[in-house]
Amino acid sequence: MSWDIAGALRGIEAAGLRRELRALAPGPGARVIFQGREVLNFSSNDYLGLAASPMLRAALAEAVECEGAGSAASRLVCGTRGAHEELEQALAGFKGAEAALSFTSGYAAALGALPALAGRGDTVILDKLSHACLVDAARLSGADLRVFPHNHLGKLERLLASARGRVLVVTESVFSMDGDRAALPGIIELKERHGAWLLLDEAHAVGVLGPEGRGLAAELGLEKRVELQMGTLSKALGLCGGYIAASRAVADLLVNRARSLIYTTAPPPALARAAVRALEWARGAHGDEARARLWRNIRSLARGLGIGEESAASAILPVILGDEAAAMKASAQLLEQGFLVPAIRYPTVARGSARLRITLSALHEENEVEALCDAVRFLVPPSERAAGSAASRR
Ligand SMILES: *Cc1c(COP(=O)(O)O)cnc(C)c1O
Repeated sequence: MSWDIAGALRGIEAAGLRRELRALAPGPGARVIFQGREVLNFSSNDYLGLAASPMLRAALAEAVECEGAGSAASRLVCGTRGAHEELEQALAGFKGAEAALSFTSGYAAALGALPALAGRGDTVILDKLSHACLVDAARLSGADLRVFPHNHLGKLERLLASARGRVLVVTESVFSMDGDRAALPGIIELKERHGAWLLLDEAHAVGVLGPEGRGLAAELGLEKRVELQMGTLSKALGLCGGYIAASRAVADLLVNRARSLIYTTAPPPALARAAVRALEWARGAHGDEARARLWRNIRSLARGLGIGEESAASAILPVILGDEAAAMKASAQLLEQGFLVPAIRYPTVARGSARLRITLSALHEENEVEALCDAVRFLVPPSERAAGSAASRR
């Protein structure tokens, strides 16, 4: 066998699935400079508009000034600073947990935590639409892998009843490609009845849902019943890094076993310090104002797309076309009209469930959201959209 890299790329191309990196530069408000022109960005996860905010720029610059640039070692060697500990305390408080541990990314948090807690002889049960990092982490753990159809509590219960070893249920709280929410009360009820634990990935809920933007579990008053609360600093919090909030004992075990924490350089301490500021901002009055603008935009887009305000569950609203080529074409046409809205295709979502994935931010002005609605309505009339909001992902 030879390394036929060009052939592999041709295969991807022929299937209409070739992807490319595209650089852009930040512009004013929700605008970005892309391919030499200013367009409205409807694809970022910067839900509260923190990433480019003067507040966070200043906080990061100040932190670099006093902490330096890099951390120079892994956490267990000499990379841990006061800033990391402060951030972890702030995260624990934010999540109503005893402790928290920060990682270089959400992906790294999943990859470290899951195999540290479950292994051969155990069972990990995932919602079918769970993020790739959760699937990869479950595979890496060596535990038996079971999957239930999206939010299907009956199937989850059957899997719980037949699972062996220690059992971990894994789900997102807001699903990243569908924008809908986990059936959390039912999932928690079931995992408790069967003595299982729950890992809840709140990547897209933090900053957006719940009091102080603390997420879906907090909105429902259920945080104390979630053993592993996972999240990221890289979406609504505008920075970079992931975390697990849990009991003190779990955090201590992760320090000893989570390989993505132990065998990698600690995140720059300035990032941790800036993250503390981002958290304070997001929890406080500024965060509440940003959330109010974000939700005004969400309701307005849902109305404009004809999907009903009440079914808008998050800042992610997919318009499902089904056909990969149709989604690519609609995305290209929107770009021509000045809207950056990505087409999401296999393997990120299931074949035949390609979609436009619109994400909103507190930075969007009302008239900008209305203009997008008009463009989508014209380019993709309801008759060309596929039924159902939650077409299954691989
Ligand atoms: C983005 C995302 C992650 C990964 O977080 P990073 O900090 O970007 O690595 C994990 N889970 C979900 C659901 C996500 O959307």
